[in-house]
Amino acid sequence: MTASVGGTLLKRGRIIDPASGIDQIGDVFVRDGRIVEVGAELHHEGVQRIDCRGRLVLPGLIDTHAHVYQFVTGRFGLGADMCGVQSGVTTLIDQGGASCMTLPGFRHYVAGHAQSRVYAFLSAYLVGGLEGHFYPELYRPECVDVDATVKAALANADLVRGIKAHAELGGFARWGTEVMRASAEIGRQAGLPVYIHFGQLWPMPGQATFDVDPDTILEQVVDMLKPGDVLAHPFSRHPGGFVGTDGKIHPLAREAAARGLKIDVGHGSHFSYRMARTVLEAGIVPDTLGADMHGYNTQVPAPAGTPAEHPDQDHMFLGRVRFSLVSAMTSMLALGLPLEQVVRMATVNAAAMAGLADGAGTLRPGAPADITVLDDQRGRWVLRDNEGTQVVTERLLEPSFCLCGGQRFDASAPILPAAQVA
Ligand SMILES: [Zn+2]
Repeated sequence: MTASVGGTLLKRGRIIDPASGIDQIGDVFVRDGRIVEVGAELHHEGVQRIDCRGRLVLPGLIDTHAHVYQFVTGRFGLGADMCGVQSGVTTLIDQGGASCMTLPGFRHYVAGHAQSRVYAFLSAYLVGGLEGHFYPELYRPECVDVDATVKAALANADLVRGIKAHAELGGFARWGTEVMRASAEIGRQAGLPVYIHFGQLWPMPGQATFDVDPDTILEQVVDMLKPGDVLAHPFSRHPGGFVGTDGKIHPLAREAAARGLKIDVGHGSHFSYRMARTVLEAGIVPDTLGADMHGYNTQVPAPAGTPAEHPDQDHMFLGRVRFSLVSAMTSMLALGLPLEQVVRMATVNAAAMAGLADGAGTLRPGAPADITVLDDQRGRWVLRDNEGTQVVTERLLEPSFCLCGGQRFDASAPILPAAQVA
């Protein structure tokens, strides 16, 4: 027990810090933007006390799949702090909004102004996520510059923690695997993980089927990758991912994990409880979570004059809703994953995936005072996915507030969902 002046004491919460092996009722003391002490009962005088009884006290949550290049990516990019500190999330990893051509703007206007911590997985394409990948032709092989993208990544190593690419049916049908191959090469040369979107994104107008068999996408890609690269959207209801067109788990899915590839849920609007059960029942548990909120799958006002539709209406437009990283955590609990595992996905595993500095994703003394406090409620609520599957959950997590670098932010984002009582 120590006495000190100033600082904040979080009292009597359930502290879960998988990185330190802690799961106990206790107190956390922070001062000068750092974690000072975690213990069963701490006594400090002259400090601000916050009663956390009945709440979860977690390392600041890390969203591994954000779209926050606001205004530059049209309707696609959301406000960083709305998805971040105002939603109980202290750290955001933007997936492919910025490219080698637009990264300086991302650094200045987004990372430099947000109160949340913001990192980037740099787009493998010259245009990045402009207009939310609205024009498929801008993603053809001629629109990738390996050298320029490697150079931008290495020159911004503090901000760029990976590369974003797509292994996607429409792209493969148009141009084959050349773009994916170049993306993997960027990751190799930059020494960074490549985060790969699976599931259809760019359908061809008027064409219901492709010349490419969706069940071959995974095998075409896995051989190009290196350990630490990330396969995204295993629970997608769209073809071309972890679940084959026969409804069974892809034979390569387990093999991919054994080769050191990582798996990120990337929740989004294509998340399917049906697919999730198939994958989990096969014994495959994703490493990280990621909310994947953007302006096409959430209810936010669009910038004037931006497209009202997207080439893939089914993917982008169905059921525009409110959600958050924390509601994605509730989805994982409803699927039967243990709480400790879900916290791990959104904290220490996320920090490892993006190679974040020591101290991210943990409550170890000396780490930045990034802490998320959640309400942990019991009752009966209905959860729905965009396939129409309904699941009743008896446990609901909702953000209460977070500390980011010791500064308090209440969960006030308009995008946070309202729970529906069953
Ligand atoms: Zn996304």
